[in-house]
Amino acid sequence: MARPIDVAHISRENTLSITWEGGVTSVLPVPYLRGWCPCASCQGHSNTVSFHPAPESTRVAALWEVGAYALGVRFEDGHDDGIYSWDWLWKISEHSAPLGPKTGRFVAGRYTP
Ligand SMILES: [Zn+2]
Repeated sequence: MARPIDVAHISRENTLSITWEGGVTSVLPVPYLRGWCPCASCQGHSNTVSFHPAPESTRVAALWEVGAYALGVRFEDGHDDGIYSWDWLWKISEHSAPLGPKTGRFVAGRYTP
């Protein structure tokens, strides 16, 4: 399972920079991160998680660790229900297969463009 050794919020670039064990660094734009919010109010209750494009102006207000397995994110509009597990952050990163940004959906954990 993927684990980060560093998570940095680069405010001026509006990105999260995640360095993984092994040294690869993923750069996730904040609107992209919001588009993949895994919470039930964004995704409903099913085994499908879809990308919901968010405004380019979407920004992060706060970040915190949840146990040893996830990142909590509060966006500037106050939305903070998404718990981004390390595994989830890895799945939506540009370094997991298929490589590059993902804007489709995951059905039972499997990506479909
Ligand atoms: Zn959400």
